[in-house]
Amino acid sequence: MNKQNLYFAIFAIFGILIVHEFWQQSQTVEAVPYSRLETMLKEGQITELKIYDNYITGTLKDGVDGTKQVVVANRVDPRLAEQLGRYNIPFTQVYESKFFSTLLSWVVPALIFFGIWMLIFRKFAGKQGMGGGFMNIGKSKAKVYVEQQTGVSFEDVAGVDESKEELQEIVDFLKAPEEYGKLGARMPKGILLVGPPGTGKTLLARAVAGEAEVPFFSISGSEFVEMFVGVGAARVRDLFEQARKSAPAIIFIDELDALGRARTAAGFGGNDEREQTLNQLLVELDGFDPTVGVVLLAATNRPEVLDPALLRAGRFDRQVLVDRPDKTGRIAILQVHMKKVLLDDDVNAEQVADLTTGFSGADLANLVNEAALLATRRKADKVAMEDFTQAIERIVAGLEKKNRLLNPKERRIVAYHEVGHALTALALPGSDPVYKISIIPRGIGALGYTMQRPTEDRFLMTKEELEYKIAVLLGGRAAEKLIFNHLSTGAADDIARATDIARNMVTRYGMDDDIGFVVYEERQHPFLPQQQGPGPHGCNASDNTARRIDASVRRIIDDSFALSYRIVERNRGQLERCAQLLLEKETLLEGELVELTRDLHRVGDDVQRPETELSPT
Ligand code: ADP
Ligand code: MG
Ligand code: ZN
Repeated sequence: MNKQNLYFAIFAIFGILIVHEFWQQSQTVEAVPYSRLETMLKEGQITELKIYDNYITGTLKDGVDGTKQVVVANRVDPRLAEQLGRYNIPFTQVYESKFFSTLLSWVVPALIFFGIWMLIFRKFAGKQGMGGGFMNIGKSKAKVYVEQQTGVSFEDVAGVDESKEELQEIVDFLKAPEEYGKLGARMPKGILLVGPPGTGKTLLARAVAGEAEVPFFSISGSEFVEMFVGVGAARVRDLFEQARKSAPAIIFIDELDALGRARTAAGFGGNDEREQTLNQLLVELDGFDPTVGVVLLAATNRPEVLDPALLRAGRFDRQVLVDRPDKTGRIAILQVHMKKVLLDDDVNAEQVADLTTGFSGADLANLVNEAALLATRRKADKVAMEDFTQAIERIVAGLEKKNRLLNPKERRIVAYHEVGHALTALALPGSDPVYKISIIPRGIGALGYTMQRPTEDRFLMTKEELEYKIAVLLGGRAAEKLIFNHLSTGAADDIARATDIARNMVTRYGMDDDIGFVVYEERQHPFLPQQQGPGPHGCNASDNTARRIDASVRRIIDDSFALSYRIVERNRGQLERCAQLLLEKETLLEGELVELTRDLHRVGDDVQRPETELSPT
């Protein structure tokens, strides 16, 4: 029963009671004083008397007093009447109606209790974020976001052309569902957008709705999971119902993993609610007929935790990969976002893309905004290339910390360390050019940094390239050892990364002669960066093999370190020269470095690779 019905019932009851009261009174044809009734009795005008609790009615003889037949008089206590009769004046008794006071004494307390009850529930419901209050638990009105027009088109999503191509079919279907029915083909019921965070999955889903010009029902997976068991399931039902009513439409469930996580046999703390919601989703997926023109899209960056039941054919039977953009993709994305800011002529999207390998679409959008903020701060009227390079540094290395001062000795160490990285990179064939080195401390941890510019996106790397990469990472420590003959904590991060690469070479890529082409490590997460970080990996080798793996890793690192040490040793003069200038200027750019290292001894020409002896373990 809803509120309106309740009010109606209350009014009806009141109405009936009031009408009844009036009807009773209207029965009284003519009210006379009691004294008059007595005289009428004496005069014999009355043929019949009826005595009620409070009043007396008398039927009059025919013809008397025109048409009136019945009189009524309120009863008066006979003893009192006898006394009063002597005075010969009209008298009557007045009864007050107790009807309303009786009614109120019942209704008012009931209303007060009802009010308190409502108040408590509303407060309670409000705290749980159920929006509509107690009366509409399970109605998802407040949570489903319906957009009649998303206003986003495929043009706004750049660099993911393959994903767009796959989704184009959905757009065509939504525009003309009949066409697709002709040959008996049916649309996939559910399409799952899979990819790392920030690559534009949500944006892409909205673009599909925008292109097809259909309403967009979106809800996040986590919003289904409620405190009360069953509420989430009701929401799922409600969502599909609403979408069906306005078909053709798109239902979009963002962050599906929050809801569709694999059901476990024994869960601690119970996942009843999520399970029920998931089951309801499966039921809806099975039950709905795609020919009505409702397409279900979902997005996740953790496809591997999803319940297998969700992924079987007939449910989310198509998966579209939305991956990190490559260089051309980055250029396209940058162009989309650069349109929104006032650009100086020197800004070159290609150059920016060169410096942002590995950035996702969201990172790039953020970068353009950061650059615009920097330009605003320096009161320029246009965003220049300089702003972009600064913004990249800011994002890559954390915020510049000008106020954190290193003491002169530390600065010297950092300078030699960074130049060590730069020189090894320059001396090794095929390494990415060094774009900038700096000894301005940034963020937490990094005291200086060397930025290399990848010449292209890499998908494959050879064993040699990986070894060179390790050598570059260890170049900082090699320079420190050569100049100061000490070991410092400044190389901790470099060493951790180098060890990671070396271990992967041995246990994943099969690049070590001693260990062979056997994988000893569990597969890593395809999209999310490893949560465990550097440290003990999930290694499934026997004790003996594990020991040999450790030895191999150690040998790769040692060999690479020997190589970088040779490089800095052979180029000591250049090292000193660069470090001096770096201490002066705090940053060195590519051009200056090239100028300073014209006479660099390179690996292969002047510097020999150290002999790699196979250790006899
Ligand atoms: P996801 O859902 O994959 O985590 P979003 O779709 O929420 O990522 O992307 C966040 C923002 O990043 C978008 O609003 C958009 O501004 C930007 N963005 C991400 N990918 C792209 C892309 N391919 N093209 C243009 N902009 C993008
Ligand atoms: Mg998203
Ligand atoms: Zn370093």
